[in-house]
Amino acid sequence: MKIVVLKFGGTSVGTIDRIKKVANIIINYSKKKYNVIVVSSAMSGTTNDLVNKSKNISNNFSNEEYDALVSSGEQVSCALIAGRLIHKGYKSRSWMGWQIPIITDNKHKYSKINQVHKTNLIKYLKSGGIPIVTGFQGVNIKGRITTIGRGGSDASAIMLAKFFKAKRCIIYTDVEGVYTTDPKKLEKAKKIRVISYEEMLEMASLGAKVMQPVSIQDARLSRIDIEVKSSFKNKSGTLITRRKNIINRNIITGISSTQNDAKVTLVGVKDKPGIAASIFKPLSESSINVDMVVQNISANGKETDLTFTIKSDDLTKTKKIINSNKQINFKKLLFDKNVSKVSIIGVGMITTPGVTYRMFQSLAKNKINIQVISTSEIKISVLINKKNIIKAIAALHKEFKLEV
Ligand code: ADP
Ligand code: ASP
Ligand code: MG
Repeated sequence: MKIVVLKFGGTSVGTIDRIKKVANIIINYSKKKYNVIVVSSAMSGTTNDLVNKSKNISNNFSNEEYDALVSSGEQVSCALIAGRLIHKGYKSRSWMGWQIPIITDNKHKYSKINQVHKTNLIKYLKSGGIPIVTGFQGVNIKGRITTIGRGGSDASAIMLAKFFKAKRCIIYTDVEGVYTTDPKKLEKAKKIRVISYEEMLEMASLGAKVMQPVSIQDARLSRIDIEVKSSFKNKSGTLITRRKNIINRNIITGISSTQNDAKVTLVGVKDKPGIAASIFKPLSESSINVDMVVQNISANGKETDLTFTIKSDDLTKTKKIINSNKQINFKKLLFDKNVSKVSIIGVGMITTPGVTYRMFQSLAKNKINIQVISTSEIKISVLINKKNIIKAIAALHKEFKLEV
């Protein structure tokens, strides 16, 4: 079988008119003799609405019911796509995660797909049908509906491509592909033709919403090439593939930024071994992810300041945990939500000296203060004031010659 997986994001199925256009894209692949498996997200805005409804019902809404609720948007879009294909004379039907079934682990809200059963879909494909599969959702072995994290339809598509050994996996979205930085933030952003899994994973994890990080990790492990392209314009997009398939002359491939970080500072903490561990242990036990960390050198050898970042959503919980931690003493606890992490990403920096210096100098020239720094082999991240995000992205985009 020549299987292609086509995934459509929220904006691509955002209106009835868009759904009719999506049906035409699907029909084109079917005419080219592909066995098409479609994965769809909910119509744009739907999932957010459902999440807000759950918050208005309870500030401690049940995780099981959250999944039953927020997964429902995909049922609507899939039925509409299938309905349109049937209207056009094609054999099609919607498939909910549990009907296939797509089996996940037992965690709710952030489940992981363990298995996609093939029998039902293969039989349906062989009969000439076009299955329209709900992204984002699955079912656990207890028979409960699960969801796999926001933006999860990308991962649903990759897992279907993996289990069905698809020839192609195409992610249709509202931009023409992966850009050097968010094209909605910087007009000069340039479409990237080819990008490695490693760079895409960093870009996505550091804020590039265009692909969900988990999906890239799944694709990398299973070596599935991903094409990202526009469902609005018929133009070539971006290929996400193995590093060895790429000849790249740029030092930096892209720039990402985040909107939802918060900075926490403990002023005047006792400077003694094990103190950082006693601060971070209870946070990790509560599944709070500590990201960037900086500890100032103690001036008097007795006390120091410790700064770290977390997701803004975890701020209230973090405050509570630190204030009730009997093992630590500090003078003051400070919080700042007006921060953003801006990162430059690229495998080119492994072999090029001076990248850090160029980044810092370019930010300094633009009077942007760096609050915290973290690096890995292929990325450098800095924490800055939120008001400077666009200025920083523009400066770095220019400095590393990413402009169109
Ligand atoms: P979909 O609904 O199709 O899944 P998303 O909204 O999840 O679409 O992702 C597409 C959006 O990602 C774009 O509209 C764009 O604003 C944003 N984005 C952020 N960073 C990038 C980037 N580097 N390249 C392309 N798009 C990006
Ligand atoms: N509809 C889900 C969300 O908004 C899944 C997705 O868009 O991929 O998070
Ligand atoms: Mg998305």
